Amino acid sequence: MNATFHVQNRIGDLLTSAANGATFERRNPADRDDVVSIAPESDGDDVAAAVVAARDALAAWRRTTPTVRADLLTKASRILADRAPSIAAEMVREEGKPTADATMEVSRTPKNLELYAGEAYRLTGTTFPSDDTPLVYSTRDPVGVVAVITPWNFPLNLASRKIGPALAAGNTVVFKPSPMTPLMGERLAAAFVDAGLPPGVLNVVHGTAAGAHLVADQGVDAVTFTGSNATGQKIHAAIGIGRRVQLELGGKNPIVVLADADLDAAAAVVARSSFSLSGQACTGAGRILVDRAIHDALVDKVVGLANAYVVGPGAKAGVTIGPLIDPAAVAAMERWVATAIADGARVVCGGAPATDDELARGSFFPPTVLVDVEPGTPLATEEVFGPVIGFERVDGLADAIESANAVRYGLSAAICTRDMSAAQRFASEIQAGMVRVNRPTVGAAFNAPFGGVKQSGTGTHKEQLGPTVMDFYTVSRTVWLGT
Ligand code: NAD
Repeated sequence: MNATFHVQNRIGDLLTSAANGATFERRNPADRDDVVSIAPESDGDDVAAAVVAARDALAAWRRTTPTVRADLLTKASRILADRAPSIAAEMVREEGKPTADATMEVSRTPKNLELYAGEAYRLTGTTFPSDDTPLVYSTRDPVGVVAVITPWNFPLNLASRKIGPALAAGNTVVFKPSPMTPLMGERLAAAFVDAGLPPGVLNVVHGTAAGAHLVADQGVDAVTFTGSNATGQKIHAAIGIGRRVQLELGGKNPIVVLADADLDAAAAVVARSSFSLSGQACTGAGRILVDRAIHDALVDKVVGLANAYVVGPGAKAGVTIGPLIDPAAVAAMERWVATAIADGARVVCGGAPATDDELARGSFFPPTVLVDVEPGTPLATEEVFGPVIGFERVDGLADAIESANAVRYGLSAAICTRDMSAAQRFASEIQAGMVRVNRPTVGAAFNAPFGGVKQSGTGTHKEQLGPTVMDFYTVSRTVWLGT
């Protein structure tokens, strides 16, 4: 049996339990008997202590030179890279994704930090011509204490996209990892601390209720959040005016396949977008809008690819689809399928939990394809966050765009076509923050802006790199310098 990791909060220079002594367990989603981590179930007192520690550390950290901050991020990046093999194995055990996917995430995270290290040197201002004084200029200062609240599906990568720029700009941080992945949160924080980050600059509180306490704490100046729409709505309502919030939320990401598309390539785009990470990616595709003329042929090809996925524990060689995050997610997939059938759809592959042999010990659900999905029904409009997708028939590009836009989300969208003018029209008319032509909806260039429109996020500050990334983590001040 594997060892259980005892994770603690990091508050100032202390590694601590929750003040009330409460803990929670995280079990391996591929094997419910394997307790991977036990972490503090923090309450308001723990959160308040972490925010005080972050405020206390702010004055000194914001005055550090760019080189001090850049060197620290670079060193943390190298520590993470050195530890990558063991962290990847732990990620497979705690979060569930297959080893190849965990390895990719663990290798991408240090690169994020390298890039953000450079941002410490690029916090430039502007000068403005003025009739009034010889010099008007703007500077960029840190926002203050930043709360970083993250989901479980990319426990290192997403958190690094927030902690990295926050620290590079001179902010201090209180980090609240997902209760599904406390060990991954600790591994990321430990890399910064082991790199020499001063106490209190990065604090970590674990638990379920801790997120709401953190958002409510008026010692927090800005909240950067990635997660579900339901939680995002609560945070948005709680933040009030005078504090900053960045929300990166869910999606109902469409793939449009036009009649002229290369069908084998389109089927591969659909399968990869829909079933990678067991469909547990915010950019995963859920709606496949196919021109009527090629609908049945494309469904056949996608079903062929779906049936070729190997469902199993992420640590097992050859597995291409790991478990869902927990038993509740499996129950949710069963409900999605039942509701879609009640709404008139038909299952053409998958449709029920995978429970053969060792799979009975975990939370497994196979790639599932439904056809004849009615526009406007829940499967056509709401995020599933699992490997259950629905096909809808459309008549050409205009119909596809109208149908694709008829949802409240706007994160990622793809089109498969050989017609580049159709692709360009799609790219300009689709309501999505990220558009792919003949490429899967999933994946990201880590040096290109990432984020959604409509209810997929606040959309005001995109993540990753690009000209706007540091805007969220800095406040601009305009100075009129008289003589
Ligand atoms: P979630 O909203 O349940 O939880 C996210 C985080 O918020 C967790 O740390 C959780 O403990 C915390 N939290 C819960 N209630 C809170 C509250 N009231 N106040 C503050 N914090 C609170 O989401 P999840 O299940 O962890 O992640 C899946 C969701 O994340 C999906 O909807 C997915 O689309 C979305 N996601 C979006 C992106 C993106 O970049 N747009 C990326 C990954 C995941």
